[in-house]
Amino acid sequence: MVLTDDQRALQETARRFARERLLPDYQKREKLGVLDRSLLRQMGELGLMGVDLPEEYGGLGQDGVTAGLIAEELAYGDFNVSAVPVGISLNAAILIRHAQPEVIEEWVPRMIRGEAVVAICLTEPRGGSDASNLQLRARREGDHYVINGEKTSITFADRADAYLIFARTGTPEQGAHGVSAFFIPYEATKGISRTKFDDVGSHIIGRGSVFFDDVEVPASHMLGEAGKGFTQVMQGFDYSRALIGLQCCGAAQASLDEAWAYSKEREAFGRPIGQFQGVTFPLSEGESHIAAIRQLCYHALALRDAGHPHTSEAAMCKWMGPRYAFDVIHQCLLTFGHYGWSKDLPHQQRMRDVMGLEIGDGTAGVMKLIIARQRIGRVAVQY
Ligand SMILES: Cc1cc2nc3c(=O)[nH]c(=O)nc-3n(C[C@H](O)[C@H](O)[C@H](O)COP(=O)(O)OP(=O)(O)OC[C@H]3O[C@@H](n4cnc5c(N)ncnc54)[C@H](O)[C@@H]3O)c2cc1C
Repeated sequence: MVLTDDQRALQETARRFARERLLPDYQKREKLGVLDRSLLRQMGELGLMGVDLPEEYGGLGQDGVTAGLIAEELAYGDFNVSAVPVGISLNAAILIRHAQPEVIEEWVPRMIRGEAVVAICLTEPRGGSDASNLQLRARREGDHYVINGEKTSITFADRADAYLIFARTGTPEQGAHGVSAFFIPYEATKGISRTKFDDVGSHIIGRGSVFFDDVEVPASHMLGEAGKGFTQVMQGFDYSRALIGLQCCGAAQASLDEAWAYSKEREAFGRPIGQFQGVTFPLSEGESHIAAIRQLCYHALALRDAGHPHTSEAAMCKWMGPRYAFDVIHQCLLTFGHYGWSKDLPHQQRMRDVMGLEIGDGTAGVMKLIIARQRIGRVAVQY
């Protein structure tokens, strides 16, 4: 892939920030479990947030490939911090496409400056894979909607500044066609409560439930058309799936680089362990898997940038990225022998962090269903 001068400069900025500011405290931040807002503001100042968003809102107006370069570089330093700009690329684009001008003008620049985090709320307690089969209700009353119900398993649940939610405005029989999307600022809205789960990883971004109890939302905060929230607003997900694949490549590459370096230093049987093919071949295989997935992710983003369909390719990135990153990081952990088993080294944390995305944003099973549906149509989906 040949990069432009602008892309190279942004990649270099992200790389330096990731390696100098993020990587040294990756594990310390996770132990504290706090999303460091000052880091986000610094990223905003460096132009690393919303690089793909329009300049009129503070973005850089770059393409999806450039956003991918930044996601990959940041994840090398901290997989969880890299989730923030990916979320901004997805959520701000949804707002720009579907929100009223006053919502866009207030919120998108704040997101790009690293001052506001928005959670996207789709999953409910009864299930996430069958995403359009949701129950949380929005009832129209005059110039506003009244929202009641629970969203669960929501990234940033207990720390978001606003929520982008999917709610049923039609009947259950209407399925996806009875679902609308809304934008709900947290501070200015009464009736929202939220929790945090004790997760396997990714504590700094957190995950939890959000409860809506007679929450009043102005009708002007509906995104897209009534009853079309699901079909219109969900379209951005192909994009974020390719970015997630690159986050996973970045995290795996960090472990690979560390494992290769160790293989030159550590000695066994009187020689560096890098002289044993039993040590280097698994790392070479990992390097190959990650290189292949990286290319697929950038291919999906290039298709998106050119306005071509990329649903299958994005689903492939989304299931293969976390799955192979997990395996590769696991192999790197083993390369460190007993040191790898210690929490002093970052591999165990990277494994736990990337594993979350084997489920989050749609499971591997659902991604494979999407690929099958692209090949043979709805016959591949049983309802
Ligand atoms: C780290 C993380 C972050 C998340 N962030 C968010 C968020 O920000 N917002 C949000 O709305 N949700 C979020 N989620 C929720 C996530 O999207 C759901 O967990 C996911 O869609 C699966 O839903 P479920 O957990 O209810 O599993 P279920 O739908 O109950 O599925 C259970 C199992 O059955 C399999 N399965 C179900 N149906 C099929 C099928 N037709 N074919 C093959 N296999 C199938 C699934 O793959 C899974 O293995 C997050 C989850 C995680 C782990």
